[in-house]
Amino acid sequence: MTHMLDAYADIVGADVIRHLRQLAEPLQGKTVVHVNSTRRGGGVAEILEKMVPLTRDLGINAHWEVITGDSEFFQCTKSLHNALQGDRLTIPETLLDHYQDVNVQNAQQLRPILEEADFVFIHDPQPAALLKYCGKRKGKWIWRSHIDASRPHRAAWRFLEQFVRGYDASIFSLPQFAQTLPHPEYIVSPSIDPLSEKNIDLPLAELESVRVRFGIDPELPLIAQISRFDRFKDPLGVIEAYKLARRFIPRLQLVLAGGGAADDPEAEAVLTEVYAAADDDPNIKILVLPPDAHRTINALQRLADIVIQKSTKEGFGLTVTEAMWKGKPVIGGDTGGIRLQVINFQTGFLVNTPEGAALRIRYLFNQPKKAREMGITVKNFVRENFLITRQVREHLTLMFALQYGSADRIELG
Ligand code: UDP
Repeated sequence: MTHMLDAYADIVGADVIRHLRQLAEPLQGKTVVHVNSTRRGGGVAEILEKMVPLTRDLGINAHWEVITGDSEFFQCTKSLHNALQGDRLTIPETLLDHYQDVNVQNAQQLRPILEEADFVFIHDPQPAALLKYCGKRKGKWIWRSHIDASRPHRAAWRFLEQFVRGYDASIFSLPQFAQTLPHPEYIVSPSIDPLSEKNIDLPLAELESVRVRFGIDPELPLIAQISRFDRFKDPLGVIEAYKLARRFIPRLQLVLAGGGAADDPEAEAVLTEVYAAADDDPNIKILVLPPDAHRTINALQRLADIVIQKSTKEGFGLTVTEAMWKGKPVIGGDTGGIRLQVINFQTGFLVNTPEGAALRIRYLFNQPKKAREMGITVKNFVRENFLITRQVREHLTLMFALQYGSADRIELG
């Protein structure tokens, strides 16, 4: 029988795969359920799409459930998300009550599977209250935060904390994001799947057809930001940086590509602002893509000379990792998980302003040798640190620790 995981041996080495199987041995037959709030769009869905089948491939009974909610619920969770990332927002009590009501309804649906599971991973704030309504739970529950909650608006954190404190453990992407909680906290950075449609090598003909479809000129320099249209991703800052850089690179092209996520009600308003700022500049391509446009995004990241991710807050920034895997230096906002990935003069540049981004765009186009060297460094950097096999290993270790934490001695097969 062939296993999905074996295909990764060529990229990460056979030892890594053997190690995963060894770690999974004591967890054989256990049930793991991941819960989030959208099947498509955004980094969490991107990770779960592969994490779940790979965990199954290791003999662990993994499932992925998605909670449902109405627009009021997602309006509330978006405000909660923004407030946890530092916006000083006051969320009305009625909306917060609705958040709980929706979690109650979802708990009614999901209770049979969640209460029976050996491990439940609840992703982000949207489904965090489920625990409260699954009183007969049997397994360990882990709250997995993907956001930059390093400086949350205190009222928002207090609201969420009442649900999160009951978990057996929580996971944050960076040490700076961890909060004081009465249970073990783990740091696990996200990862990309090198064999997904988003990241596999593409034939030149496919790159060419994407280039032609979007009217990108092959002779002219191209910068790109691929992101949901979200204020924290600062697409307006990218347009400003592009306009400044054009003073020195007059024929520069910019692609801003993204879609919304099903749990993000703000995208449309941001998109309207983006169109206004682009002001019909023919060298700015604003592409609104469907949620399954993985190969198109892959191609755009490969077509770009430089990838930008000018976020002002970023939990991790998988788009940064994806670009680096394709050998692209990244100019990224000096924030959150981007700081973990972008190292000045090695893998790209951290910037705080459109002026800073424009300066680095100019630098990279003026130093093609340095840009090429960075392109080699970035791919190896991702191979060593940010591929999905590393994240699967850390999840196995975490489950193992929660299951056997008090044992003096653990024998691996
Ligand atoms: N993405 C996508 N389509 C889009 C915009 C983004 O498939 O229109 C993907 C992107 O390639 C990446 C993920 O969604 O894999 C975004 O993750 P990231 O951590 O960068 O940001 P998030 O959206 O989770 O804040």
